[in-house]
Amino acid sequence: MTAHPALVAQGEQTKKEIIALAPGMWMAVGYAASNVHMIEGKNSVTIIDTTETTQAAENILAEFRKLTDKPIGKIILTHSHRDHISGATVFSEGKSVPIVASHLFQSDLVDVDETLIAPNKMLMRRTFMQFGIGLRDDQRISLGVGPGDRPMKGMGAGFIAPNEIIYEDGMMDLDGVEVQLIHAPGETDDHLIVWVPKHKVLFCGDNWYHAFPNLYAIRGTAYRDFQKWADSLTLMAELKPEVLSAGHTRPVFGAEQVNEVITTTRDAILHVMRYTADGMDKGVPMDDICATITLPEPLASKPWLQEFYGKLAWSARAFATGTLGWYDGNPTNLACLSVRDRAEKMAALCGGVDNLMKAAEQSEDAQWCLELCDHLIALGAPAEMLKAQTMEKLSEHEINATARNSYIWAAEELRKSQGDT
Ligand SMILES: [Zn+2]
Repeated sequence: MTAHPALVAQGEQTKKEIIALAPGMWMAVGYAASNVHMIEGKNSVTIIDTTETTQAAENILAEFRKLTDKPIGKIILTHSHRDHISGATVFSEGKSVPIVASHLFQSDLVDVDETLIAPNKMLMRRTFMQFGIGLRDDQRISLGVGPGDRPMKGMGAGFIAPNEIIYEDGMMDLDGVEVQLIHAPGETDDHLIVWVPKHKVLFCGDNWYHAFPNLYAIRGTAYRDFQKWADSLTLMAELKPEVLSAGHTRPVFGAEQVNEVITTTRDAILHVMRYTADGMDKGVPMDDICATITLPEPLASKPWLQEFYGKLAWSARAFATGTLGWYDGNPTNLACLSVRDRAEKMAALCGGVDNLMKAAEQSEDAQWCLELCDHLIALGAPAEMLKAQTMEKLSEHEINATARNSYIWAAEELRKSQGDT
């Protein structure tokens, strides 16, 4: 399938490899959606994060075992997202191993009502769409910050609840390796970053990765506090790391480069906040803020700020709704027409459903075509295949992996509903 060339090239960031970070420290990248890190102590090793499947965890452990046969003494979870916490049973190798996490550890997926994540419920459906779960590997070429092609066996199966809870920042001895555990909220409030002062290596969880930050996940998520995330990036820069080992994508080496990726990502978040707030202050409609937001130079051309994962427009909307709620200040929007009412009125304006269909078929603007298709489908007119084709066309030019996966996933579903498989 055709895909945006920059998104294809982003695959370099998640090519399978065990990478040495510093003496006695490694990252496993490309084996799963997320990375696993290992720190070697005197007689044991510590694992940081555990991936989303037991199969990926087994594959990584087999690679780590080529480096050392020391037993695993501790597992640290940087945060509670499922793609980081679901392989602990594998890494604990049948023993009772301390699992370290923040006292705030609470996933926006783990603690929800299980009925909400049943396969036919919206949160699971949207999660499947975002990650392209169920698509073929050639359709799902990328997760944005993870490989499209990864094991699915044992998804979510290896979670062990944390049993060594960190209430305050402080030092921890990892069998002879001194590390500092620091609370640093970002993608989640419960982020715990691991700083190794001696080697100036920072394990930062998902507070940074090589893509525009996922300030809003389209699977559905509560507000991720933009200011707190930006403050955490400042804190990370102030540590002056020389190696940045992130929860996704390859490590960054060199004090100058690490400082640049961290501070420019912070500046990009601050830009979204300022641009959105300025627009709202001036009464610019939210749709227009989303349609016009871009990063200024020099941020715009930084390879790690491209929208492979997060997206500026979604972030602007998330900031607006996260800080002011859904209402945009325009009294027109205090009430709303039903989808069917609006569709009927649109069809009447066009001189009937047939004309509406013609307008959709002839539209050269894919977004407009999708909007017309939705009116038509609401009226029971057969626009499903046109909508599917249009989403597939959009997916070919989409740099954002989660949007691309969603277009293709929803198009497949529509095709199936029409008996076209
Ligand atoms: Zn992650």
